[in-house]
Amino acid sequence: TDALKAEGERAYDLDRKHVFHSWSAQGGLDPFKVVKTEGSFVWDSDGKRYIDFSSQMVNTNIGHQHPKVVEAIQEQAGKIATIAPAHASAPRSEAARLIAERAPQGMDYVFFTNGGADANEHAIRMARLHTGKSKVLSAYRSYHGGTDLAMNVTGDPRRLPIDQASAGTVHFMPCYPYRSYFNAETEEEEVQRALEHLEQTIILEGPNTIAALILETVPGTAGIYVPPEGYMAGVRELTEKYGIIFIADEVMAGFGRTGTWFAVDLWDITPDLITFAKGVNSGYVPLGGVVINEAIYDTFRDRVYPGGLTYSGHPLATAAAVGAIEAMTNEQMLDNATRLGNDLIGPELRRMKEQHPAIGDVRGVGCFWAVELVSNRDTKEPLAPYGGSSTAMGEVIGKCKELGLLVFANFNRIHVVPPLNTADDVVREGLAVLDEALALADKHYQG
Ligand code: PLP
Repeated sequence: TDALKAEGERAYDLDRKHVFHSWSAQGGLDPFKVVKTEGSFVWDSDGKRYIDFSSQMVNTNIGHQHPKVVEAIQEQAGKIATIAPAHASAPRSEAARLIAERAPQGMDYVFFTNGGADANEHAIRMARLHTGKSKVLSAYRSYHGGTDLAMNVTGDPRRLPIDQASAGTVHFMPCYPYRSYFNAETEEEEVQRALEHLEQTIILEGPNTIAALILETVPGTAGIYVPPEGYMAGVRELTEKYGIIFIADEVMAGFGRTGTWFAVDLWDITPDLITFAKGVNSGYVPLGGVVINEAIYDTFRDRVYPGGLTYSGHPLATAAAVGAIEAMTNEQMLDNATRLGNDLIGPELRRMKEQHPAIGDVRGVGCFWAVELVSNRDTKEPLAPYGGSSTAMGEVIGKCKELGLLVFANFNRIHVVPPLNTADDVVREGLAVLDEALALADKHYQG
């Protein structure tokens, strides 16, 4: 309608005049004018509909504008819109219960934050105080958030500009079969060698200096490279053996994305701390947090935890979490995510790989998939350099958008990460668009 078009234009003009954007050079930005969102769709100010295969920042796990969650927020706003963190408050208490009930056994306590980065900051602080040690191990090809410490345990190119804050952070090579750092030819070899490398890193750094190991259970932005069977169990074993707190970063992988409440459930692993955000309430109101085990909770039973924030467990955010977790449970969204991955997304992407030479690798689980594009399958030369973009990638992403599909793209990868409750025919429609757009990637193939 004309009103929505005018709203979109005005938002755009004011954005260009006044809004400072994340991760961007500010000049020359051309933000997308979204004026309406619903379920697995968004609309621009021209009234064009797009299928949202990005779930925005891979956070709208229940889709846009879920009526139950919108209602939960509205209802809470009418009762108590805000309250100090020291007070007991129904939505915070209920959200903590629902999360603890879904976390692995023995992880019964929840500290709420505003998002994923601060959840990781607090988890690391807890680990350091609990162990009395200070180093933090993390993987290259990872993302843990945009605050200083979270940025510096991150293993992607964005880490570099603020490197002075990286004291005490040590990176190791990840378990990444497609581009093995260990010349492994099979997944078993990759797991074994990646674990040997991790153990050597621990030994050489000195176990008595290492407080924590933080690891995305399924690395997200870095490429949805699902660790093969045995890797996470091995990491759990090594961290236990050397007295290191294992922090599972489930900010992107958690709350149903992989078809389980937490990705650690895929391998029956119990970490010491789990960090979450995004899918906990699908981002309807900012929320993140740390799920804490008994031993670490005990450390702070009589000792003051030196940390906090005004909005820890904010009523609107936690009411949204209660609404979202209940909706996910009642509407069997986890099973649906598993089914979509096993029966539709996985098979269809693998079929595309047969037809598009530019697809180097397809991998994923649940509603969490990556298509890695290459200009040559033998050399695995990426279609855009690590840390950069390319004409070819721009063409594929542009074609998707032209045909009404929003994708999450990073370097040489297209991620297929729709809401967990996306209808089958919408998933098929989106995959058909991707199939068509990938023909443009093939044109750049040099095999
Ligand atoms: N950890 C992981 C695995 C993430 O994917 C993200 C965000 O993309 C974060 C942490 C940071 O979360 P936030 O942006 O809410 O601070």
